[in-house]
Amino acid sequence: MTIPTRGEPGAMPTTPVQERSTRQRRIIRSVFDDAERPLSIEEVLDAATRGRHTVSLSTVYRFVRALVEDGSLSVFELPGLGAFYELSGKAHHHHFSCLHCKRVYELNDCISVDKLALPTDFQAVSHDLTVAGVCAACNVGGTSRAQRAP
Ligand SMILES: [Zn+2]
Ligand SMILES: [Zn+2]
Repeated sequence: MTIPTRGEPGAMPTTPVQERSTRQRRIIRSVFDDAERPLSIEEVLDAATRGRHTVSLSTVYRFVRALVEDGSLSVFELPGLGAFYELSGKAHHHHFSCLHCKRVYELNDCISVDKLALPTDFQAVSHDLTVAGVCAACNVGGTSRAQRAP
């Protein structure tokens, strides 16, 4: 038995609602393709509407949930900041949370779990790490700038 797919005889013709829905889903997906860091729902909405697309927060939320459900996006929660979304399938990494602008960045470095003093006979299987601090954009006049000064 073959299941008819779109465009083949027997498939249901696409309705304007479906086309709109596909377009909006593509917009949300492209926001994540362009983003270099995890995004909150509000940031997704902001990025989607910056391209002069008209999308509501509830629509963004619905499509982001759908992308999480089909495995395209991963979600993680940060205490006090809520949920952040990023593309799935990335290599093991951690996050940096800016206390000032509340943006979350991806860190590609990892701590060595061997350096953690675990109790005797405990064995680490996985770990999760979020570093909190001030990002470069917020750290105006920060240490790297001071070090570069003559
Ligand atoms: Zn910041
Ligand atoms: Zn790690």
